[in-house]
Amino acid sequence: MDAKIERSGFGKLPDGTTVEQYTLTNSHGAFCKIITYGGIITELQVPDKNGKLGDVVVGFDNLDQYLAGHPYFGAITGRFANRIAKGKFTLDGKTYSLAINNGPNALHGGLKGFDKVVWKATPNESKDGATLKLDYTSVDGEEGFPGTLKVTVTYTFTDKNELRIDYDAVTDKATPINLTNHSYFNLAGGGDVFGHELMLTAKNLTPTDDTLIPTGEIKSVMGTPFDFTEKKSIGKDIEKLFGQPHRGYDHNFVLDNQGKGLALAARVFEPKSGRVMEVSTEEPGVQLYTANFLEDTRGKGKVHGQYSAFCLETQHYPDSVNQPNFPSTILRPGEKYRTATVFRFSVG
Ligand code: BGC
Repeated sequence: MDAKIERSGFGKLPDGTTVEQYTLTNSHGAFCKIITYGGIITELQVPDKNGKLGDVVVGFDNLDQYLAGHPYFGAITGRFANRIAKGKFTLDGKTYSLAINNGPNALHGGLKGFDKVVWKATPNESKDGATLKLDYTSVDGEEGFPGTLKVTVTYTFTDKNELRIDYDAVTDKATPINLTNHSYFNLAGGGDVFGHELMLTAKNLTPTDDTLIPTGEIKSVMGTPFDFTEKKSIGKDIEKLFGQPHRGYDHNFVLDNQGKGLALAARVFEPKSGRVMEVSTEEPGVQLYTANFLEDTRGKGKVHGQYSAFCLETQHYPDSVNQPNFPSTILRPGEKYRTATVFRFSVG
């Protein structure tokens, strides 16, 4: 069986814009489904230890459910993933104001971020597998950000059961940019994720204030509930965080590799299914979020609630645009934004 990509309709926006769904199938029959609305990964079917396919991402059955609102399930998140303090930043002497949509801060690109726009799709079948190229032009001033930004996100589903995401962008004015994918994973297909074993190649994190804005420090995880340098179940220490404002893991880890080429960031093993997910990235950070604020949500015949999924959002650090000692998130005219993250599925 050859890798293939197939298109089907997924409904219409209230203004009549058509939304399509693409199914990327590899030569082993594993597949993922992606819609042009938000570039959302709606389904990801990979084998368990018995070779049986199962869906490992949270999502919905139809467009209306996505349009009704959700916490970024499977979506491309931008122009600036994660938080910007008080929705304000100053760039080249000019101060910009963004919508406040998360406590006192701006989160995930604004009221209508990249998760809520329709992307132009170009399907392809390459030697690496089925690919879906998604293009979107974010105009100057959109959601308060400067510059017309041309963004391409390319999903490739390979014969090694890898979902590779390549992000590219160019701008005509200096702008902050921080792109990620916000998939909620559960390698068992359901239930809480406390039994998932996680390893992160991160000896440090960026501590935050109560509104989840980094203090600017880079702090060691050693001897704290955030130490995943050796594999540990997500549930082992999570209760120690229940009393805190974020009620679980919702933290940016500083990856040891620091953005020098594609390197392993995380390995997750789910003992019942035997599924393994390895995340490699060129980004310097990853946000571990354990769905602490997820209210019971019905989709694809399941109910997902608090702690029933986890996100590993590869990214630059939150609020980098206001933190001079963090790696820069400013893209200037003439430069190319380019980064990649790979989710590789296997069994162990
Ligand atoms: C944030 C969480 C937020 C979630 C859904 C994560 O990236 O860090 O605080 O609740 O996205 O919006």
